[in-house]
Amino acid sequence: MEKTVHIAVVPGVGYSHLFPILQFSKLLVQLHPYFHVTCFIPSLGSLPTDSKTILETLPSNISCTFLPPVNSNDLPQGVALALQLQLTLTHSLPSIHQALKSLTLRAPFVALVVDALAIDALDFAKEFNLLSYVYYPASVTSLSSYFHLLKLDKETSCEYRDLPEPIQIPGCVPIHGRDFLDLAQDRSSQSYKFFLQCVEKFRLFDGVLINSFLEIEKGPIEAMTDEGSENLLVYAVGPIIQTLTTSGDDANKFECLTWLDKQCPCSVLYVSFGSGGTLSQEQIDELALGLELSNHKFLWVVRAPSSTANAAYLSASDVDPLQFLPSGFLERTKEQGMVVPSWAPQIQILSHSSIGGFLSHCGWNSTLESVVYGVPLITWPLYAEQRTNAVLLCEGLKVGLRPRVNENGIVERVEIAELIKCLMEGEEGGKLRNNMKEFKEAASSVHKEDGSTTKTLSQLALKWSNFGIEKQLFQVL
Ligand code: UDP
Repeated sequence: MEKTVHIAVVPGVGYSHLFPILQFSKLLVQLHPYFHVTCFIPSLGSLPTDSKTILETLPSNISCTFLPPVNSNDLPQGVALALQLQLTLTHSLPSIHQALKSLTLRAPFVALVVDALAIDALDFAKEFNLLSYVYYPASVTSLSSYFHLLKLDKETSCEYRDLPEPIQIPGCVPIHGRDFLDLAQDRSSQSYKFFLQCVEKFRLFDGVLINSFLEIEKGPIEAMTDEGSENLLVYAVGPIIQTLTTSGDDANKFECLTWLDKQCPCSVLYVSFGSGGTLSQEQIDELALGLELSNHKFLWVVRAPSSTANAAYLSASDVDPLQFLPSGFLERTKEQGMVVPSWAPQIQILSHSSIGGFLSHCGWNSTLESVVYGVPLITWPLYAEQRTNAVLLCEGLKVGLRPRVNENGIVERVEIAELIKCLMEGEEGGKLRNNMKEFKEAASSVHKEDGSTTKTLSQLALKWSNFGIEKQLFQVL
């Protein structure tokens, strides 16, 4: 019998950072059952219900340890979300250290894998003689852009959005500075400086595991792994997407899926802005009226308005979001569409045959889910690195359409209606659908026995097992 190989993982804070690293762990132990994964879960305040749901489905060779939750009052107020999430991890470091110390005394651990928002925890890898890996739950294109920023930061002084031309990053589709991630939009900010320091650190680790796959990001993967480029060992282990029924109101879930069952194939546009995306009241009005004007069927996950684009990321509002829809909208569109307050079972929706398009905020998980189920997109990025993902989808993979934003930052109703028509019924929409079909097929082959992801995971498993054997031999000698 093979000896158990132990690894530890630390996810970032928030649902979309917890489930991918757990799904990765599931995939690893499923392919290599002699692995045992221990997950240390940090949280800011209490763990959201949807995060708890995923923990109930874990196999016995994945165990979870909850770290003491960080109190939001202990963090500086008014800092960017990404920084808040990172600081939560900084506050959790002593408990991660303590947990690792007691576990490594009890079992022979070989590797520590942490989410990109938790890289400070990798400082402990040396102390406990563990291999160190970052689990990066986003696109290789975005990671390449971060490394390119290290160079651009030295070569340019203006804000990146003021650079006249799109920037050519090795292996990537050209990206305009205004489409770089949020943190790079204000170069004088503390958050930006802190971010660059974190990117620098990536080179110190034994590798980066990325939730992507060769067929959608061949250029950036090859450019990153080219000898002498960034000195990074990149392992594309995706697409890793959730497979279970997500939480939310059961009645709603049932109702929206039953409603989908009654619609024609490929006829419905699914509209959702991820686990935390929010729109202003003006934008909610325009979107509602645009959906109505398009005359197409829609299924819309509606959130209460906010002036911040990621207001619901860490805390869901308990006000009824439907009260913010334009007057008479629900009545007028009751045959045309369905609205779901706050949260919907996205995987079941995207995999439903009635779905023909996805208006998405381009979070990386939503992006991969759309690819896996072959649904072309209207890309509506809101925050983080979502604009970079939109560029990859629209200009790189050619599976999405991006709306024009007016001078006040609003996408107007006519623009929305036109894009919906173009995606759902136009010739261009047909082309995007065909392109997406090819990526869907590629995504389904990577997990086969000889698929690229299966091979990469076996390579990692072998490396980790060998390291375990070396460690033991060293101890005996
Ligand atoms: N999600 C869901 N129902 C919702 C909204 C989101 O199941 O109503 C899931 C979605 O399937 C995806 C994740 O939440 O797996 C959102 O992750 P993503 O990276 O797309 O965006 P983020 O929430 O990080 O902005």
